[in-house]
Amino acid sequence: MRLTALSLLLLGSISLSAQSNGDPKLTEIWEPKAPVVTPGKTSADPPSDAIVLFDGRNLNAWYGEKSSPAAWTIADGAMTVKPGAGGITTKQGFGDMQMHIEWRAPIVVKGEGQGRGNSGIFIMGKYELQVLDSYNNQTYSNGQAGSIYKQLIPLANANRPPGEWQAYDIIFTAPRFYKDGRVQSAARITVIHNGVLVQNNATIWGGSQYIGISKYEMHKDKEPISLQDHGDLVSYRNIWIREL
Ligand code: MG
Repeated sequence: MRLTALSLLLLGSISLSAQSNGDPKLTEIWEPKAPVVTPGKTSADPPSDAIVLFDGRNLNAWYGEKSSPAAWTIADGAMTVKPGAGGITTKQGFGDMQMHIEWRAPIVVKGEGQGRGNSGIFIMGKYELQVLDSYNNQTYSNGQAGSIYKQLIPLANANRPPGEWQAYDIIFTAPRFYKDGRVQSAARITVIHNGVLVQNNATIWGGSQYIGISKYEMHKDKEPISLQDHGDLVSYRNIWIREL
């Protein structure tokens, strides 16, 4: 943002002289410098400045909805919903962020529609990016995998078959509120599902609702993220965040 504003200012004031005397240096911007971030070996690995929320070993970064430590099952580098144990919630709050998370619907296909491999990522505990086995499984379009639940239909159905790992790469801009609680700017979200763009800087309508219209309720700049226990054996792994 700072770079862009500065660039525009500079370009505006020097464009005439730059064009007239042909000096390329006039349009070079050297400060500030972009911080160095060492990327992971693959897109699943956390970059050097990431906060790792789950690396396959333990649930230390999470509270359980009904018990602490959270009662979800850990095996083979993944955690799996324990039906009835309730959702799990990060101890830390997050606002604007980049998030990587991988999920897997159970290989044993049972149920249909919303009853097949259902979970969800509740960003700020309120805005649900749906997790669902949407491979050859019809449901309402704004309730399938990659949707913002009951709001935004994904741009594509990029699901892999159940039993295979899938990735969401998320860029989230938190909503801003005036002091009196009115919305100053709505939340926005970009989601890439298995390398396919499914939400493109889309505007979120408000907190996810099962019944009725979503609306915003004022909350803090940073809020914890929850993963849903919807009774299905959905697994997660490689969860990390870069705060923006
Ligand atoms: Mg769900």
